[in-house]
Amino acid sequence: MHEYGLCEGVLDAVRRRANGRRVARIRVRFGVRHAVDEESLAQAFGFVAEGTEAAGAAVDLVTVPATITCRDCGLAEETTDVLAVCPRCAGEDVEITGGDEMTLESITYEPAPAR
Ligand SMILES: [Zn+2]
Repeated sequence: MHEYGLCEGVLDAVRRRANGRRVARIRVRFGVRHAVDEESLAQAFGFVAEGTEAAGAAVDLVTVPATITCRDCGLAEETTDVLAVCPRCAGEDVEITGGDEMTLESITYEPAPAR
């Protein structure tokens, strides 16, 4: 599962920002080209975050679309499917751009424990 590798990068970013605060929830944006599945991502993140301030955090995934451009019919539209053929003319002379970003959008922290 390639989600594990991605999650290590996410966890690094989370820990740099959290700076020791307990993390309740994170929201990440992955381009559709990373082909990340929310359930696998949450599972993998739970695994890599074990023993850190982000252990047990909920993971929200936002999938960022790519743009498909067709040189045959001129179609240019956003897609969340990484298609190898044009959805309009079924031509194969298509180019997929974007959809490869990976961003930690936000972090929600646990309330500070009362002492
Ligand atoms: Zn086309």
